Amino acid sequence: DMTSVCNRTTELNDWVERYRSYAALGSCADYIPALRKADPSQLGICMIGADGTIVKAGETESPFTIQSISKVIGFMAACLSYGIEAVLEYVDVEPTGDAFNSMIRLELHKPGRPFNPMINAGAITIASMLPGSTAESKLEVITALLEALTGKSLTCNQEVFQSEWQTAHRNRALAYCLKEMNCLQSDVEVALEVYLKQCSVEVTVEDLARIGMILGCDGYDPLRKEQLVAKDIVRITKALMLTCGMYNASGKFAAFVGVPAKSGVSGGMMAAVPPRAKSRELPFPDGCGIGIYGPAIDKYGNSTAGHMLLKHIAQAWDLSVC
Ligand code: GLN
Repeated sequence: DMTSVCNRTTELNDWVERYRSYAALGSCADYIPALRKADPSQLGICMIGADGTIVKAGETESPFTIQSISKVIGFMAACLSYGIEAVLEYVDVEPTGDAFNSMIRLELHKPGRPFNPMINAGAITIASMLPGSTAESKLEVITALLEALTGKSLTCNQEVFQSEWQTAHRNRALAYCLKEMNCLQSDVEVALEVYLKQCSVEVTVEDLARIGMILGCDGYDPLRKEQLVAKDIVRITKALMLTCGMYNASGKFAAFVGVPAKSGVSGGMMAAVPPRAKSRELPFPDGCGIGIYGPAIDKYGNSTAGHMLLKHIAQAWDLSVC
């Protein structure tokens, strides 16, 4: 009801103001101009409940590029296209504890598959195997799923894509190594283009909250009364988010926040909260999705203020799945 929406908004506003200053513990990604010039003092959050309740606080209208959060969508799109079993022949589901763009394990899985789809090696492999032979057709599979989940049309930020493309030396090296190991199902440059374009799609915290809410509800959108992604695919996706979603800070995040979540270098975070039977008196007992934007990131690549804010909410409202 309206009273509780107001109360939750007041609480969220307080917490956003309390954790905004944690941006100072990190800084904006600086490898491309579009991310470098983001305003690190921004912090915004949107929560959408399974009953449709929307609560927002902070700067919630700024669009930002989805970056690594797109890895979640890419993985689900591949599973929807080919089935889980077929996809897992190309990527494993083991956390690495290494940086998202690490090359160190490439040789370790030889001649097998990347450790998981939430690191760049896995995401580029997934991009390569999507249906179609051109970058356009593969990207379209991801965009179509993103648009089905958010319920709106989204655009790729061309400026971000162009600078990603020009500075993708490490990703290009990763992709060529993967190709040499027979991990890629397409041309190297096609896989790279799909991956960098999927990273450059612009979203808002509300878009991320909506996707998170649907994942929290096992792929069912309670608002449109539609199963958008099969439950078994969503279960694996959430397990991957919990174990690998926050890069090499995933263990600490699972321990102290305990919610399946995915971050991106632009400072976005998406969390999927399932229903909590024992928390009927707390907000969002039927599950919710959370989208956060706080562009200053830590050394792992996670939003510093976003992480602290989510940790606080998870503890206050008993959101942990563990
Ligand atoms: N485009 C970035 C990269 O692959 C995205 C990575 C991320 O969000 N961590 O380098």
